[in-house]
Amino acid sequence: MAASADARYASPLAEELAEEVLERFLRYVVVDTQADPSSTTYPSTAKQLDLSRLLVDELRGLGLEDVELTEPGYVFATVPGTVDEAPTVGLIAHVDTSPAAPGAGVVPLVHRAWTGEPIVLPGDATQVLDPGDMPALSDRLGHDLVTSDGTTLLGADDKAGVAIVVTAARRLLADDAPRATARIAFTVDEEVGRGTDHFDLDAFGADVAYTFDGSGLGELETETFSAYQLVLTVAGVGVHPGTAKGRLVNALKLIADVIAALPRERLSPETTEDREGFVHPERISGSASGATLWLIARDHDDAKLEEHVELVRRIAAEVVGAEPRASFTLAVEEQYRNMRTVLERHPEIVVAAEEAIRRAGVEPVHTIIRGGTDGARLTEKGLPTPNLFTGGQNYHSVREWASVQDMAAAAATCVELVRVWGHRGSGAEGA
Ligand SMILES: [Zn+2]
Repeated sequence: MAASADARYASPLAEELAEEVLERFLRYVVVDTQADPSSTTYPSTAKQLDLSRLLVDELRGLGLEDVELTEPGYVFATVPGTVDEAPTVGLIAHVDTSPAAPGAGVVPLVHRAWTGEPIVLPGDATQVLDPGDMPALSDRLGHDLVTSDGTTLLGADDKAGVAIVVTAARRLLADDAPRATARIAFTVDEEVGRGTDHFDLDAFGADVAYTFDGSGLGELETETFSAYQLVLTVAGVGVHPGTAKGRLVNALKLIADVIAALPRERLSPETTEDREGFVHPERISGSASGATLWLIARDHDDAKLEEHVELVRRIAAEVVGAEPRASFTLAVEEQYRNMRTVLERHPEIVVAAEEAIRRAGVEPVHTIIRGGTDGARLTEKGLPTPNLFTGGQNYHSVREWASVQDMAAAAATCVELVRVWGHRGSGAEGA
């Protein structure tokens, strides 16, 4: 790979695509697409489709085929391949943004050729991007950085991914270099855990896929948590407190005792990192006569995850079991599975991603996700889908930012990925 004339760029292709990715990114982030976890509709907010409809028009204008807004609200489209018998590659990003920070009225600011000074966000001067406590930022000297004005999130999660995939599609169609067929999907409601609830794998028709929903330059994520939600329901005995002596059994106190008995120094999100799992109480609801506790259990190791569930069951049995007039049920609901197990059976999917990242001029960085992705759900449903970087950082925060040069490297990676799979046509094994 020839070095780019401008050393900030990973490769000539990244440099070629940079302003185009930025132009799209700035247009997409001003569309409010915030998801709402309390909504029961699909998608959770209709405004997400404002961006989806814009994307349908844009993709048609760029000459993509089979462009449609599907009934549940996904944008599907095709970049036709130039090679017969190559696997079909899925390229996936999500249009919605997180409910964790304000998402309406985004004012993106481009800080050209950043000189290393702390960036004070003008809409709220208490919000400062300080390279002193942001290692990823301090590495981006000279880059063109995009932030919000400090009053909203930026929305690089995942509009960087959307801008990357659209730009890559445009570039792929510009020549006849060998390439696989690419199927594009822009999903909704990823941030509220419902991104693939109505995803029709047959209609999508990809053999392998990649989400562009990661972060730092070169990152390739092939491991997620495996995840359960646990719902502990405790039945006590409700009696008027004025006449409760010897009769009242307070379910709220029993649930408080269950929480108090959970480990603190280990198995908590606040005391674990890397591949360490946890059990995390999220919400309590109820009264003295009956109460419910929602917990989540997470681990990269499926066997350990089962141990975490058993721990909660044992603690509940001890605490509630000590009061014969009380009873409990524990419902265990699977949320998603670590994609590693499936990807290990299809090593060519990770190898192709590594090759594409290198062709884009970047060294691959394997990282693990302490969470899930749309890809984890798709992998479980039968479409192996690792996650790739976008160049966005500090997600779900008003101090979210993105490097234009890193977004451009991701767009170059996306182009190269479809070309790499093109070379794997005729005889290469698909998923
Ligand atoms: Zn995301």
